Amino acid sequence: MRQLFVAGNWKMNLNGRQGIELAEALKAEFGDLEAVRLAVCPPFVYLKAVADALAGSAIGVGAQNMYTESEGAYTGEVAGPMLLDVGCRYVILGHSERRHVLGEGDGVINAKVLRALEFGLKPILCLGERLEQREAGETEDVVSGQLRAALEGVSAAQMAEVTMAYEPVWAIGTGRTATREQAEEVHGILRGLLAGIYSAELAERTIIQYGGSVKPENATDLMAMPNVDGALVGGASLKADAFAGIIRAACAVSK
Ligand code: PEP
Repeated sequence: MRQLFVAGNWKMNLNGRQGIELAEALKAEFGDLEAVRLAVCPPFVYLKAVADALAGSAIGVGAQNMYTESEGAYTGEVAGPMLLDVGCRYVILGHSERRHVLGEGDGVINAKVLRALEFGLKPILCLGERLEQREAGETEDVVSGQLRAALEGVSAAQMAEVTMAYEPVWAIGTGRTATREQAEEVHGILRGLLAGIYSAELAERTIIQYGGSVKPENATDLMAMPNVDGALVGGASLKADAFAGIIRAACAVSK
């Protein structure tokens, strides 16, 4: 049995006051929630304030990125131990915007996954194909390559801390969601890969979120699929009522 996990990726949105208000609204309704795992991922500068607002609740806080080194002359970067210090438990790695807008390749993502695990952070590892890759029938090859590369050197014991997120690039922020069948198919492929690399038992317990224009209206359909274990939510996580609708859908389909 896998616990569903719903995480909100705020990206570069909301100011400090708005982020705290959103966190407080979520805490008021879901602060004691046990059935579904929850997290929000604000921009670096608001992590501490949001973590403080959520203190004592079941809602975790994650960063949207981190650097591979723990300290030093890396102007503009933020280290894993700093994230832990301000109350972060999770870190999103390999997001398509990091890959395609900010130029992160598989090697960097793998290094970040390994370092995050070393530091004691739980990676939410994103992967997914671009539209032209899907249309060329390359989805399986692309996601397999991304998964193998990102998890190079990650032990079976460390995998207990890793959440996977399938995020087709063509569905992120576009309003175009994968159908539940498309999501289920790729989630099944990812689980099969994990079974091959590690074990069937490990694959069975790894949480694989779906991300890409998840909204209250499509969340139930997607999360009810056997291999879809929650959602990584961008745009709809910025408004308390929309994010709450997705969380309620997760509670309703809890497996
Ligand atoms: C994301 O950024 O991880 C995401 C899935 O965004 P959106 O929900 O807005 O498509």
